[in-house]
Amino acid sequence: MDYLPLFHKLTEQDCLVIGGGSVATRKVRLLLEANASVSVMAIELSEELAGLAAEKKIKHIKRVNVVDQPGLCSFIFPAIIDRAPITIGISSGGVAPVLSRLLRAKLETLLPHRLGNLAALAAKFRQTVKDHFSNPELRRMFWEQTFNGPIADLSYQGQHSEAESALRKQLSNTDDSPAEGKVYLVGGGPGDPELLTLKALRILQQADVIVYDRLVSAEVLNLARRDADRVYVGKQRSNHSLPQEDINSLLSKLAKQGKRVVRLKGGDPFMFGRGGEEIETLIDQNIAFEVVPGITAASGCASYSGIPLTHRDHAQSCLFVTGHLKNDTVNLDWDHLAKPNQTIVIYMGLLGLRQICEKLVQRGLAGDTPIALVQKGTTPDHRVIISDLLNIADKVDQLKPKPPTLIIIGSVVSLHKKLNWVH
Ligand code: SAH
Repeated sequence: MDYLPLFHKLTEQDCLVIGGGSVATRKVRLLLEANASVSVMAIELSEELAGLAAEKKIKHIKRVNVVDQPGLCSFIFPAIIDRAPITIGISSGGVAPVLSRLLRAKLETLLPHRLGNLAALAAKFRQTVKDHFSNPELRRMFWEQTFNGPIADLSYQGQHSEAESALRKQLSNTDDSPAEGKVYLVGGGPGDPELLTLKALRILQQADVIVYDRLVSAEVLNLARRDADRVYVGKQRSNHSLPQEDINSLLSKLAKQGKRVVRLKGGDPFMFGRGGEEIETLIDQNIAFEVVPGITAASGCASYSGIPLTHRDHAQSCLFVTGHLKNDTVNLDWDHLAKPNQTIVIYMGLLGLRQICEKLVQRGLAGDTPIALVQKGTTPDHRVIISDLLNIADKVDQLKPKPPTLIIIGSVVSLHKKLNWVH
């Protein structure tokens, strides 16, 4: 970030605009809206500026100027969304003003026209609500409910007095006792932040604490509430940084403090994610929880590699298994796996890859059965290695893909050549 967005109070402040053309005219309009006292320095003024000067709304200083030289500028006019007192500025650091304007148009459609009413209501009750709650957490929750519920709707409809009495009523119904915490077991998807569900996003933005894994991408984590605490409990293959029991007890400890705890996991929490074990502890301790599914690595990697997991001509079923090594061996039901017309997806299979392929061929799968190894699926480092059961292990030794990787085996992999759309 090269520019830090700041908001200036301009009421009755002297502002000098250099230039009198169409760009300057737009800036002057904004400055006047912010009640600045504006002088314009230019030899010639646009029609609108000339009119404003004639009405004495701006001062005209008739001198030469230096036009639009970014190198000489120390601040930028962002694209502005005005829902006073709520103001949003969007800037591209001067490099893509049209993109900023497009974003502005998008946000304009998302934000209620009368958003300012709601902020004004909050301003009016700010002190009363503050006095009502000694616990700041409860106060925040009260405001979140107010801004998300029927009181907000009344404000947006312009029904001020109805909104006020609803707020008073809600306040008198809410007591100042410590809230019960809750744990949200949230699937963060395979990496691409746009694959997050709307529910996951909403919960991430309301979290007090986020307990997250190694597989959660930085972009996903970035979408969480700025002032939420972040606790990393990631597991490396041979280096368990926090044992599972400790994670379980951490979750219940935080919830008992009244916090909204997000347990954020890569992919889907119920797919090789120990989600089941974590909520078992919560149930035993009577702690409220919710589970939010995520896009599992199999779906994400398959879609972004142009490999449908089932296909009428290739596979009528699909198995998800873990290729985890235990005492240097992969323990799987090989006879069940080595069958035609089915796709096998293997999580955590990179280290056991050679063994897996050998076993499958021994049990009857053809050596030329196609196989894909997907590295860091759906992220900018997404990469697909295609080979067959006999040759993939050597190819992988050579190319040394980086974890996490996912393995897809079966004739659907042959479709990659035609259907691949991520390049
Ligand atoms: N709960 C997760 C899986 C956890 S197990 C889910 O639903 O996806 C961890 C394994 O998932 C990794 O070893 C790897 O095999 C796979 N994996 C997770 N994210 C991946 C990604 N972006 N690309 C490839 N494989 C991934």
